[in-house]
Amino acid sequence: MIKVVIEPRESCMPDFVCVAVCPEVFEKHGDGRARVRGGLGEGFFDRSLEACASEAARLCPRGIIRVYRVGDDG
Ligand code: SF4
Repeated sequence: MIKVVIEPRESCMPDFVCVAVCPEVFEKHGDGRARVRGGLGEGFFDRSLEACASEAARLCPRGIIRVYRVGDDG
């Protein structure tokens, strides 16, 4: 599993680069900022989405996305 965090969400621009790069993990929220699917500022996903989530983190102009490996699946 991976844990994906947007923190602090208040710093989101929002340009939705993350949504464009990795829509499986990020989506637009009603407050006008990006959010993590299934949550708001954080959520858990299959390891198969690590590459796109990490690419979104790399490209986020505010540098507010973090991706952590969690669990014991490698
Ligand atoms: S890439 Fe960063 S600043 Fe842009 S919408 Fe996503 S979280 Fe917000």
